[in-house]
Amino acid sequence: MVSSFIVKNPATGESIQEVPRHTEEEINQALDKGHTGFKKWSKINAHERSRLLKKWSLLIQENKEEIAKVMTMENGKPLSESNGEVNYATSYIDWYAEEALRLYGRTIPAASEAKRIVVSKQPIGLVAAITPWNFPAAMMTRKAAPALAAGCSFIVKPAEETPLTTIRLVELAHEAGIPEDAIQCVNGRGSVVGRLFTESPHVRKITFTGSTPVGKSLIKDSAETIKHVTMELGGHAPLIVAEDADIDFAVAQTLLTKFRNAGQTCVCANRILVHENIVDTFSEKFAEATKQLKVGNGLDEATDVGPIINEKGYNKIVAQVNDAISKGAEVLVGNKYDADKEKGFFFVYPTVLKNVDGSMDIMQEETFGPVAPITSFKTLEEAVEIANNTPYGLAAYFFTNDYRTGTYLHDNLDFGIIGWNDGAPSAAHAPFGGMKESGLGREGGIEGIEPYLETKYLSIGNL
Ligand code: ADP
Repeated sequence: MVSSFIVKNPATGESIQEVPRHTEEEINQALDKGHTGFKKWSKINAHERSRLLKKWSLLIQENKEEIAKVMTMENGKPLSESNGEVNYATSYIDWYAEEALRLYGRTIPAASEAKRIVVSKQPIGLVAAITPWNFPAAMMTRKAAPALAAGCSFIVKPAEETPLTTIRLVELAHEAGIPEDAIQCVNGRGSVVGRLFTESPHVRKITFTGSTPVGKSLIKDSAETIKHVTMELGGHAPLIVAEDADIDFAVAQTLLTKFRNAGQTCVCANRILVHENIVDTFSEKFAEATKQLKVGNGLDEATDVGPIINEKGYNKIVAQVNDAISKGAEVLVGNKYDADKEKGFFFVYPTVLKNVDGSMDIMQEETFGPVAPITSFKTLEEAVEIANNTPYGLAAYFFTNDYRTGTYLHDNLDFGIIGWNDGAPSAAHAPFGGMKESGLGREGGIEGIEPYLETKYLSIGNL
């Protein structure tokens, strides 16, 4: 019997589509196909690879309305955010279509007249990707575009919550002329596909975006065949508002980074630290702005905040809010829910909590929901200590117009991505990634293609 799963709309609980799971045999066949695909794709010259990537990007843009709608239906995010994500997704393809042309090697002066030393780059091989449900398009293109640009073949397993966007993107890649064995999509349970990917000798690299525990197990399993790994894992972003900050600007940017995708992003602000002299003003203004956000179905144009992806995510958010309240947090707005377990939809109204402290779970664990916990600090040293006191190190934000404060915070925060007066720092042309348990490697920018390349050193003698 062929196993399958139903993709559901998290705003209503209604079924959208049934998707068959690939069998283990089919996945192994796809890996074999990807292996032979690599041999052909890696021999296609860089200018042609670049041209095909650009065509893929154009086709995605031509089908943007349809893709954005599918994304909103399976993920729940507002349509405006889905449209924004399609642009963000194609920006990676556009950037790496250009980088394909700049995979330079170098020559090194030899220590003897009879020798020449040449260093060149070559694609690593078949790349296997596992992607999450929160950015179904961009997390895929951020991996596929540099892999294909480098000359690697690519196989992706999307999250079972949101496979439809990815399936469509892969179809469009084929329509653009990228061979069917150069880019493939397989569907199945994470643990099963993860095992087949890591066991396969054909796969030379695993690239993963998801939770830290799954990332750790993929790293362990990749050790057996010494695969390269890129890991984009969990975050617990601090957002620091210094005493001199422009409060209105900080409020607007915090709103953006906290509530985008209903707070279900690995870079969204999780711990808001505000200087004690401005914490009351900031909290009041932030709570007032939060009250204006409209919760609902992402297909409704007025919606700012969509549903939580599933019951597990919802339960974690509610438990964190209850824990914080039981330990003395004050609710300024929110702590309101609209959930129906039978039907299968889970909405959390944007919530602002004040007077939170380090004893509360919300200050220790990633929330992945629209809850903003605010605490205060006296000195910058104290703010940095609280901010760094986590195993995570993905994104951090701070707001200040004082260059000494900004430089101090930048130098001392142990995070891979820093937004200084900027709540939305991600860009295709910049390196995205985390320190500590937030991951290994970077995606985006010139750093994002290196992990798909091997360095080959040639020494020519007897000249
Ligand atoms: P989340 O809890 O946010 O869904 P996960 O890390 O569980 O984060 O999921 C991210 C991706 O990893 C999804 O595509 C999921 O199917 C996949 N996944 C889940 N468990 C495993 C596993 N044991 N091995 C490999 N992939 C997995």
